[in-house]
Amino acid sequence: MKRLLCALLMLVAGQLGAVDFDYRLSAVMIAKDVYAFIGKTEDFSTDNGGNIVNTAFIVAPQGVIVIDTGPSLRYGQQMRRAIAAITAKPIALVINTHHHPDHFLGNQAFADVPIAALAETRNGIAADGNAFAENLFRMSGDWMKGTEVQLPGQTLNAGVVDVAGRSLRLVALDGHTGADLVIVDATSGVVFAGDLAFNGRAPTTPHADVAHWLKALDQLEALTREAGFKVLLPGHGAPTGDAAPIRQTRAWLTWLSAAMRDAAKAGLDMNASSPICR
Ligand SMILES: [Zn+2]
Repeated sequence: MKRLLCALLMLVAGQLGAVDFDYRLSAVMIAKDVYAFIGKTEDFSTDNGGNIVNTAFIVAPQGVIVIDTGPSLRYGQQMRRAIAAITAKPIALVINTHHHPDHFLGNQAFADVPIAALAETRNGIAADGNAFAENLFRMSGDWMKGTEVQLPGQTLNAGVVDVAGRSLRLVALDGHTGADLVIVDATSGVVFAGDLAFNGRAPTTPHADVAHWLKALDQLEALTREAGFKVLLPGHGAPTGDAAPIRQTRAWLTWLSAAMRDAAKAGLDMNASSPICR
């Protein structure tokens, strides 16, 4: 009897833990015609499948503008279905904010539409994309099945562009990586900050230039002081109606560089002093 009960319990536990590879993406309206899929504020795991990132889309007059595509082919496909549930308009353009894998590995699901990024982001994806995908496979497991790097085919430049009848201001900054694109949608008042701003979790810093990042944060914060600003969407964590994630990220980076400086003074090397060199 006891053995039977144990077997039953194991069966139930097994079913509860079964992964159905459904990211359960639910579009949150953050402004009129602007939606985001808010990721978990966790590290990559086989439970979350890499869904720790914010992606977004704008329903423009002539089509949909997608901002970042998530960590896997599966995420991209599910994102596309979730977009289709909101609007019947075709996807006009996909934009990758920077070359980190959780932001572009869903590109493959959008292979039939134009995908664009800053030149250095395109180069970064071409150089490191496969290694990033392999690494994410190790951390997120079978959620990644079938995922391959799909390079952005178009280059974006800083300035004001018209995409599908919507005017977007592209601001080319850097510091989190060598190229971090910020998108200002003046129509809705949304600033898409990419990974220059984190909310409620420690910023990831494998390609960071802290001095550049701090400078970029000042420029980003200035955008939130412009007339018409309504919502800041960070790359990770909840959107806000103010610059709080920028200030949070700045405080963390300031603390980090002070800690590194003190450690260097004390004669410690990078690995011993940095909490991010794992
Ligand atoms: Zn990133």
